Amino acid sequence: MDFTPNPADEAFRQEVRSFLQANLPADIARHGKRDSHSARADIERVMKMLNSRGWSAPHWPKENGGTDWSPRQKFIYLEEMRRARVPVLDRTAIDLVGPVICHFANDAQKQHFLPQILNGDCFWGQGFSEPNSGSDLASLTTSARREGDHYIVNGQKIWTSEAQRADWIFALVRTDPAAKPQRGISFLLIDLRSPGVEVRPIWSIDEVLTLNETFFDNVKVPVENLVGEENMGWTYAKKLLQFERTSSAEIPHIKRDVIQLKHLAATTMRRGRPLAEYPPFAKRIAELEIKVMALEWSVLRVLHAEEGDPSLNAVASVLKVRGSELFSDVSDLAAMAMGAHGTAVIPDTEGPHNMRPELDAPPVTDPEAVGAPQRAMFRKAATIYGGANEVQRNIIAKGVLGL
Ligand SMILES: Cc1cc2nc3c(=O)[nH]c(=O)nc-3n(C[C@H](O)[C@H](O)[C@H](O)COP(=O)(O)OP(=O)(O)OC[C@H]3O[C@@H](n4cnc5c(N)ncnc54)[C@H](O)[C@@H]3O)c2cc1C
Repeated sequence: MDFTPNPADEAFRQEVRSFLQANLPADIARHGKRDSHSARADIERVMKMLNSRGWSAPHWPKENGGTDWSPRQKFIYLEEMRRARVPVLDRTAIDLVGPVICHFANDAQKQHFLPQILNGDCFWGQGFSEPNSGSDLASLTTSARREGDHYIVNGQKIWTSEAQRADWIFALVRTDPAAKPQRGISFLLIDLRSPGVEVRPIWSIDEVLTLNETFFDNVKVPVENLVGEENMGWTYAKKLLQFERTSSAEIPHIKRDVIQLKHLAATTMRRGRPLAEYPPFAKRIAELEIKVMALEWSVLRVLHAEEGDPSLNAVASVLKVRGSELFSDVSDLAAMAMGAHGTAVIPDTEGPHNMRPELDAPPVTDPEAVGAPQRAMFRKAATIYGGANEVQRNIIAKGVLGL
């Protein structure tokens, strides 16, 4: 496989870069430095900007509003989005439920939900994990009992990212308690404004609200919100988790973060010299970059591999493990480069919208530093979400090493 950039790909990169330069509002690009925890109002504006060009979800099938770009072009697009500091969009909608709707939903569901997602009018949460079902997801107990043309949903989900700003949640629910665990699960789309739904906040270590508990108390959900067949939800969820693990390699993010790390190391003085000139620190940056480059090539190999290749699931786990570690390492180094400032949550003068207001922290003059310590704190979770790394290692042991 030859991944050397060719003139057509470079022309494509310039096209994406020029579009973003011309259209991304400056205030939104500044907010994009925060990396995650984007404000809904910013995402709505960005999605409309992208949708006007047909670029909201390039990886979806073309007939559903995606593109026919090559895997390499889709990757370049993501790199340019990060480089321009487009805020992290509603990945739950674009990367998780969107592809499931494209592949498994009926025409009415596609026509209803896909245009709203593409235009940034409908935000989503992912209702898989429960207090006693995380890695062992098939043990989930949130139930959906059929009553006429509705399901009655009862139970609790946890760690529902961004549910506090979402309109809908896609949930795995048990529709056949008598069947084997994986066989009795269905994939349901639930309006979060339905009576009986309650979303409660969980504040994370970086003092920002993105995590939630979601409770369902006799929530009536129309049967027309079932995706695919009843009791077949596990099949759709497995496909979705594969999308999640490939994208969780996070290469475009990490590459952007390396640029920021180098900036912080070059501008931070230690005993009269930039930190970047200290051999031990320079060595750590170089080691990180080598690992990032190796992972990038692995991601490109997977993106070019044939769909349906059974070994892909295990390889996606390799990417998830390595990517989540580097995602955390790069932000740790950035926080380290900031010295004492790297240990504190730094208030952001322009937000974020959902940050605890009473914070008291030392001032930082370099705008590049804003958000870096929070990232280092929050990204410890990267080895957990999308499937804990220990569990991914089990999949690798079985699927790649044949143990
Ligand atoms: C920041 C963040 C955002 C999240 N967002 C969402 C979301 O939007 N929606 C959603 O549904 N979920 C979300 N999650 C939940 C996430 O998917 C789960 O936390 C994850 O699957 C692990 O489940 P658990 O927390 O129940 O831990 P457990 O499964 O209880 O695991 C606890 C520990 O035991 C280890 N372990 C468990 N089983 C095995 C095994 N078989 N072999 C070896 N070790 C094992 C795990 O690796 C872990 O270290 C999020 C989590 C985080 C941290």
